Amino acid sequence: MIGKCLCEQIIYEIEGEFGPIFNCHCSKCRRWHGATYRTRGSINKSQFKWLKGVKSLSTYNSSETVTKYFCSNCGSSLISTYAEQPDVIGVPIGGLEGNLGQPQAHIFVDSKATWHEITDNLPQYGSWPDSKKLVRKTT
Ligand SMILES: [Zn+2]
Ligand SMILES: [Zn+2]
Repeated sequence: MIGKCLCEQIIYEIEGEFGPIFNCHCSKCRRWHGATYRTRGSINKSQFKWLKGVKSLSTYNSSETVTKYFCSNCGSSLISTYAEQPDVIGVPIGGLEGNLGQPQAHIFVDSKATWHEITDNLPQYGSWPDSKKLVRKTT
């Protein structure tokens, strides 16, 4: 599966299956992507490869443990890496070409945009699902 930034200076490749795909409504994802929410999946680091444009990459530490990668030419939001989980990469799926699975849940809905109403029946979690702060679960 191939992903690109807007200007196409940066191209990356992902092999194999994605972990669960979530719609993340946290305020950082909303601001980072300029979007209502960020649809993202987790992969193992070994599945990911930059094919082109590494020298155009810039990084920003959005917290002490999270690094965001973006294109310094066009500003596209690319991957996230996590100091506490060095083997995991977070990928926003909007930049990918190929056949992906459907999102499995909405996460961080405690901080979702007040004007946005979730109208599907996916499970909703107040924060990361591991925290067990389940807001609503469908049967
Ligand atoms: Zn770019
Ligand atoms: Zn988020």
